[in-house]
Amino acid sequence: METLRFQVVGEAFKKKPLDVEAPVERPAKYFGKKVFNREKMYTYLSKDVYAKMIDVMDNGARLERDVADAVAEGMKQWATENGVTHYTHWFQPLTEGTAEKHDSFIEHDGKGGMVEEFTGKLLVQQEPDASSFPSGGIRSTFEARGYSAWDPTSPVFIIDDTLCIPTVFISYTGESLDYKAPLLRALHAVNVAATEVCHYFDPTVKKVTSNLGWEQEYFLVDEGLYSARPDLLLTGRTLMGHDSAKNQQMDDHYFGSIPERVAAFMRELEIEALELGIPCKTRHNEVAPNQFELAPIFEETNLAVDHNMLLMSVMRRVARKHGFRVLLHEKPFAGINGSGKHNNWSLSTDNGVLLHAPGKTPEQNLRFATFIVETLMGVYRHNGLLKASIMSATNAHRLGANEAPPAIISSFLGRQVSELLDHIEKADRDNLLAMDGKQGLKMDIPEIPELLIDNTDRNRTSPFAFTGNRFEFRAVGSEANCASAMIALNSAVAEALASFKQRVDARIAETEEKFVGTGHSATFHAIIDILREDIKTCKPIRFDGNGYSDEWKAEAARRGLDVETSCPVIFDRYLDAESVQMFESLGVMTRKELEARNEVKWETYTKKIQIEARVLGDLSMNHIIPVATNYQSRLLANIESMHKVFPAMKADALSARNLKLVEEIAERTSRIETQVEELVAARKVANRIADEREKAIAYHDTVAPFFDSIRRQIDKLELIVDDAFWPLPKYRELLFIR
Ligand code: ADP
Ligand code: MG
Repeated sequence: METLRFQVVGEAFKKKPLDVEAPVERPAKYFGKKVFNREKMYTYLSKDVYAKMIDVMDNGARLERDVADAVAEGMKQWATENGVTHYTHWFQPLTEGTAEKHDSFIEHDGKGGMVEEFTGKLLVQQEPDASSFPSGGIRSTFEARGYSAWDPTSPVFIIDDTLCIPTVFISYTGESLDYKAPLLRALHAVNVAATEVCHYFDPTVKKVTSNLGWEQEYFLVDEGLYSARPDLLLTGRTLMGHDSAKNQQMDDHYFGSIPERVAAFMRELEIEALELGIPCKTRHNEVAPNQFELAPIFEETNLAVDHNMLLMSVMRRVARKHGFRVLLHEKPFAGINGSGKHNNWSLSTDNGVLLHAPGKTPEQNLRFATFIVETLMGVYRHNGLLKASIMSATNAHRLGANEAPPAIISSFLGRQVSELLDHIEKADRDNLLAMDGKQGLKMDIPEIPELLIDNTDRNRTSPFAFTGNRFEFRAVGSEANCASAMIALNSAVAEALASFKQRVDARIAETEEKFVGTGHSATFHAIIDILREDIKTCKPIRFDGNGYSDEWKAEAARRGLDVETSCPVIFDRYLDAESVQMFESLGVMTRKELEARNEVKWETYTKKIQIEARVLGDLSMNHIIPVATNYQSRLLANIESMHKVFPAMKADALSARNLKLVEEIAERTSRIETQVEELVAARKVANRIADEREKAIAYHDTVAPFFDSIRRQIDKLELIVDDAFWPLPKYRELLFIR
């Protein structure tokens, strides 16, 4: 067995026997143990307060001060029984992570002692000093205050000794400074628009909920090896490293048996997650070595987003207990698959109908077709914006590479649904709706057998694929806050549904008279007419072929889809007239908020590339070149010695290979030096640009291109230099868990 050049902490973890014999509590027992859910509310709140709280949660009723006080009291009681001493407002600033500031419950009692206090006011609002969170200039530091406000639709939970209260984060002038506030507004918009459309089919529908089931992919690496890689530590990805001879080509990791050490980590992670009410369901190995996936059962989108944010932080913590570091970066290793976070999305009604699932009757399938087509309309009209919503410096590595969704948004429907839409589009209009003697109206909308829909032909290259009863938005990055994609998608669909409703109503008004007394339904006629229009309009977004092919890139451009690939330029889509108009008319975000958010996006992009550039420069100059030069000196010494012991001709022949290596090292190190100098110069030029957008573009166009070319030289050196000297753990060491 090969000896490792670095300390693998995993050895210690492997020796710990797994506690398989210990009696295991069943998940149903501890699910939600650390969440102040309805069951706990029922126990800790009076009947009256409980009923009012349910009204707040389910129907968006106003939270009265006295109710808030009573809820806070019940929460405090439950929390202190669970050893809690502190509370925090937990929010999602634009940094991609979550933020919290802990306060303890203690207050002076006025008699020199302390009491523990937690009032409705503290539950409902907190004022963290917000000046250090990115705000894109909305809130300059001299008016640094924003406030966080409780989101009662996401339950309060306990982490260690702290009661965490999910909140929105807003500036004093009313602009949102986080992901949650616009998300809640987008979900409200889609609820309103979809409920109205549902009324054509079922007037009793009261509410439409947006559902999200995310699939979180991640890598695990041994903590000891991780610590020896400054690039992983500081940027989340490896900036260099030659391919391992074996990586994913054998396809032997995907769905393979889970290594014991990883299984132990997963077990603990799932228990913690279930206790926090995250309904973990699926776990498996992914395609790349050391890559895994965790997926819960889908939930209401706002809750699902919170749960994903929470899961990512629990993962980081639990991984360290097992001697691992979890890598959530979209592309930690070149040459093998990166990580995404498929967002499975659908709409459903309060009376239990999944609107993206085919039904059993022609009417139900007309409703199904309506929601499919209007979803496509939203995605078509805002395909550039949807791409912007999943774009980041880190996800940019994934998009467009031949493993993940391409950098063009399109939608795959599968044969069955495509045929349904073609039928509605092309069938003789009047035959689609015909009078059928006794039965009244007869609709010629084909059925889709459920069995077939379950096995929809899968197209792995599609960024937005229909998968039986939902769409799967696959372009979302593993590290991202799903809220970003969910804000854009739900808004786009809300807008499409609202426009659909408006046009159908207008059409009904035009034609109603014609149908009086004929038994024809003006409504169904109007729906079919508008659907036929829309099926034609949104056709460019439908693509069932290979999304990775070059022909598709050309074809997509011809179809007028957004084919831009530069990350900072893609962010412009947020400020397009159609985007601003959509967000403003739905009340999701104002132009000012959108502009501020884009400033943050550009700034974040620049900073990420800047840090990578510094780390790469530093590693090149202080790690790689000295080691390579040192090895080169040894080779030179060897060549000299050869000439001392052998006649010149023979010494030359025997040293030929070493001489070549000396030369190659000299060439490669000098190329690295030159390019690092050019990289630094490009950075300096970019840094002088004041405009955030221009600066980000300069980083993208003039700084980032050096990464690959410098790396190429380093990776070649890795193959030449004596393994014992190489200062960084190699891919083959990082990628195989021991
Ligand atoms: P696969 O890997 O086959 O795509 P998984 O089982 O790993 O599927 O994950 C699918 C995710 O989609 C799960 O979170 C699941 O709960 C979720 N899901 C299933 N049906 C729906 C739906 N109608 N709407 C939203 N999410 C759904
Ligand atoms: Mg999936």
